[in-house]
Parts: sequence; structure tokens; C-alpha cells
Amino acid sequence: MPRLVIATHNAGKMREFEAMRRLMAEEFPFFTSYELLSLTEWGRGAPEETGDTFLANALLKARAAAALTGLPALADDSGLEVAALGGAPGVYSARYAGESANDASNNAKLRMALASQPNPDRRARFVCALALARHADDPKPLLAEGYWDGEILTEPRGAGGFGYDPLFFSTAHRRGAAELSIEEKLRVSHRTVALHALLNQLRDQPL
Ligand code: IMP
Repeated sequence: MPRLVIATHNAGKMREFEAMRRLMAEEFPFFTSYELLSLTEWGRGAPEETGDTFLANALLKARAAAALTGLPALADDSGLEVAALGGAPGVYSARYAGESANDASNNAKLRMALASQPNPDRRARFVCALALARHADDPKPLLAEGYWDGEILTEPRGAGGFGYDPLFFSTAHRRGAAELSIEEKLRVSHRTVALHALLNQLRDQPL
């Protein structure tokens, strides 16, 4: 059974990968046979995300995880781009409100940034970049990107999700992201779209 490390310490992200794999089992049966391991099994510590694009950061994390574990590694980097803010918070989404930011402070800063504009362009998208490195120096890592379009709400909506979900209105669902079940979200989310594109490549070049 091929082993694949998911380069995250985040239990929520790990659950999303497991759920996406169930949703895609019919289309990508080979992926269900992989043993997915979380980086947590190798202790804590993560590389600094010094890239200025989602893809650069995903690749950096995948290479670091492959180096640490000696196994193929899949990493994601994601965030929110808001039209009225010229694409911010972008790669800084996790630390938008500063180094000790959390979801609440990031969301508060986003609401304030849009409230300070007279008629802001509320269009936004979640972005997810994925990188799969077979080993640390893999010269041909697999790369994929996915988007989820929406708008930034004036008031938070819903009690589910995480991160910026309470302020994100999904164009595809005509509902708030935090009002969706995990299955509804994963049918269209940026992470699902990116994983789908990556698995299409992996099918042709298996581990
Ligand atoms: P990462 O862990 O470096 O990829 O940081 C991603 C950041 O973007 C998180 O801290 C979240 O705030 C935000 N983010 C990414 N994906 C989502 C999502 O599906 N919903 C809400 N926020 C997200």
C-alpha cells in the first residue's frame, strides 16, 4: 500500500482530506488504497512560509515534509483573495491580523477593511494550491490550484466551517460558507477542485 504524508499538523485539514477522498472514491479508486499519514507522527515544526505565491508555499511545505519523513508528501497552501483589497489577504490569510492572529481577529480586520471603503467590490475567492513531492529533491513535483468564488458578507452568517467561512457567501450555493455541511462545501471548494486536478495527474504518474 503506497504511503503518502499530508504535510499538516492540523486535524481539521486531515479530516477534510479523508472526506474528499471518500467523495472522490469512485473517480479515483487508486487514491483510496493509499495510507494517508499526518505530519504530526513526526513531531511538530514546520518550514517558514516564505513564498509569495500559494504554489511556492505549497511546494516548500511538500519538500520539507518529504525531507523529514523520507516519504512522498502532499502539501496545501490556501487563503482568501478579496477584489476590493487588491487580492489581500492572499498568502497572508492565516496571519492577516498579525503574528498572533486567530480566526476572530482576521475576520474582524477583514470586515473593518471593507467597511472603510464607500462602495467596496465584495467579490472574493478562496484559493488552494497543492504540491506533491515524491522526495525532497523531486525535480517534477505535481502542482495544482483550485478556486471557490463568492462574496464577502457585511455580517457573519452560520455556525459551521472555520477561518473566513462566516464572512464568505458562496456563489454556487447562494448561502454562507459557514451555513454549509462539510459535504456541501467539499463538493465545490477550492481544496476539492485542486485535489481533483492533482489526482488526474497522479493517475498517469502513480507513486
Ligand atoms: P494555510 O494553513 O497556510 O493554508 O492558511 C490558510 C488560511 O486561509 C487559514 O488560516 C484560513 O483562515 C484561510 N482559509 C483557507 N481555506 C479556508 C476555507 O475553506 N474556509 C475558510 N478559511 C479558509
